[in-house]
Amino acid sequence: MKRTLTVCPYCGTGCTFYLVSDNGRLVGVEPSTTHPVSRGGLCIKGWNAFAFVHHPDRLTTPLIRRDGLLQAASWDDALNLVVEKLKGLQKNYGTDAVMFASSAKATNEENYLLMKLARAVFSTNNIDHCARLCHSSTVTGLAETFGSGAMTNSISCFDQTDLILVIGSNTTEQHPLIGSRILNAVRSGTQLIVADNRRIRLARQADLHLRHKNGSDVALLHGIMHVIIAEDLAEEKFISSRTENYAALTESVAEWTPERAATITGLEATEIIAAARLFASAERAMIVYSMGITQHSHGVDNVRCIASLAMLTGNVGRPGTGVNPLRGQNNVQGGCDMGALPDLYSGYQKVSDPQLREKFASSWGLKSLPATPGLPLTRAMNAATEGQLKAMFIMGENPVISDPDQRHAVATLQNLELLVVQDIFLTETAALADIVLPAACYAEKDGTFTSTERRIQRLQKAVEPPGEARADWEIICRIAERAGYPGMRYSTTSEIMEEIATLTPIYGGINHERLDPHGLQWPCPDIDHPGTPLLHVDGFTRGLGRFSPVDHRLSAEQTDEAYPFVLTTGRTYFHWHTGSMTRRTHLLNREEPHSFIELHPDDAATLGVRNRDELLVSSRRGRLKTQARVTEMVIPGVVFMPFHFAEGAANTLTNNVLDPESSIPEFKVCAVQVEKLP
Ligand code: SF4
Repeated sequence: MKRTLTVCPYCGTGCTFYLVSDNGRLVGVEPSTTHPVSRGGLCIKGWNAFAFVHHPDRLTTPLIRRDGLLQAASWDDALNLVVEKLKGLQKNYGTDAVMFASSAKATNEENYLLMKLARAVFSTNNIDHCARLCHSSTVTGLAETFGSGAMTNSISCFDQTDLILVIGSNTTEQHPLIGSRILNAVRSGTQLIVADNRRIRLARQADLHLRHKNGSDVALLHGIMHVIIAEDLAEEKFISSRTENYAALTESVAEWTPERAATITGLEATEIIAAARLFASAERAMIVYSMGITQHSHGVDNVRCIASLAMLTGNVGRPGTGVNPLRGQNNVQGGCDMGALPDLYSGYQKVSDPQLREKFASSWGLKSLPATPGLPLTRAMNAATEGQLKAMFIMGENPVISDPDQRHAVATLQNLELLVVQDIFLTETAALADIVLPAACYAEKDGTFTSTERRIQRLQKAVEPPGEARADWEIICRIAERAGYPGMRYSTTSEIMEEIATLTPIYGGINHERLDPHGLQWPCPDIDHPGTPLLHVDGFTRGLGRFSPVDHRLSAEQTDEAYPFVLTTGRTYFHWHTGSMTRRTHLLNREEPHSFIELHPDDAATLGVRNRDELLVSSRRGRLKTQARVTEMVIPGVVFMPFHFAEGAANTLTNNVLDPESSIPEFKVCAVQVEKLP
């Protein structure tokens, strides 16, 4: 048997394990006992991360749609057609008629290369990835307030803190190893505030559980900050020496008495006062958040308020403190770091800066690069509907299941003149494609992933890909070659990382050899640098931290007589994202085989619904059938659905209204009707 150390392909926690193989086939997983995060543990998804790799549904050959059907083709034919069609559409409609969607499941090297392919070979900044759908509000909000959109602290800080505020993160289900770290800290005396109206696992251990209404986070955080300022609990020394614009914050929260915040949030004023006192009195307090905060039409405002609360109480730049957005997919941090974003090159360097454009152009052997920022992915879908965008190249994503308003997403993809999908399975999106390119999965290639704590780690090839499937980076290089660009000839992924390091200051000291065995945390500017577990220690990345006051705004869609319930969506412990891997993993699918909807017993009684009844759920955008789960996990008037299931897909119902600054959709609030089926 062979053991190959690699990184888990699911969440952003970044656990590592050994893939155990026998005669070229994976037979199991062994956790790494020395890894600083997983420390010998894994969650159920990690333990089963080998099981989908040899699934018979794996794509093994390129496919081209002929006579309406996807038919097997040679690599030569498929790649020639991709290049010919993309170039043809650009000739007819301009270079920005095509869009590249990168992947938070692909490696850093692959995200960098797709970004380079879009910009250097196809001369467009239309490149983005699914961070647009999960943490683009974080990137925008924290870049403005702190100067860097990443988790400020490290996962080890959960062992060194006095209080943890978890807001909008079901941590034990979505980042299970971080969730268990929080539970261990609580057992050792750390205080815990959970702000989430679902009674999640962490809430059962919390000192304070705030079940505020969906979409009322700004009101809650304003109320808390009002109390902290009014009761003189703010950290004046930190504010005066490390921050700016404090007067504007005090003015903006002055009217937000706990009583006023209570009317918006549905909480008691006393709960808001208690939360403020508890948080402000902790010597070291951490804030943990995730998509319950970011996926709103005011997601950036939510993030700004969280940054303000941390600065107001001096909880930045020390161990056991900080603002800690937990990144969803295993390499969504890396996708952002590598510039798979329409306005930024790798390392958050702006495409609008002429000197940076010149730097990248000269390194890539070009005279110039496009200067205008490209389309965010969510806006690209609208541009395709309106006919301005003609082609999409999607690597390792499944927007038919993961995008809001499924009917709109499908109609948009069908409206394109060319859809190319590069993936490991024939996903619901790949099934709509004109050309499908079969890719290797994480166990079949080398490269690096960057975890939520900015830890860059190596994944290593354990087995060969099936049939003619190839690593994403190899496919991208072959497309560049066929398009006549000579600057993407690499024989290993470590060569690609060397190029990334020369162009990307925060990765300047990274090479594959230095990453063994447990990686390095960026910024790591030079080859002797040990990495950076804590950001903003002596000063913020932008200099002074900036208080950015916001106005309270309601969610875009409110309930009414026709649609009286608030629907919120999320993930479950046993499945991951659009289910393409976990639903092909027998043990995981056995535990959670169906789409379901949680509703409160009071609502169930009113509707005459019992556990496991079949329900029809409708919104202004679509309807679906699903199974009732009657539970006090949710509050009356609110229903919850996971979005993993193609049958009973929650995103049939969700609203594709966008945050105006980050273009993130409002997945967390929409109005629905629930009916019992006869
Ligand atoms: Fe994988 Fe996340 Fe589970 Fe760790 S916590 S084993 S990274 S899914």
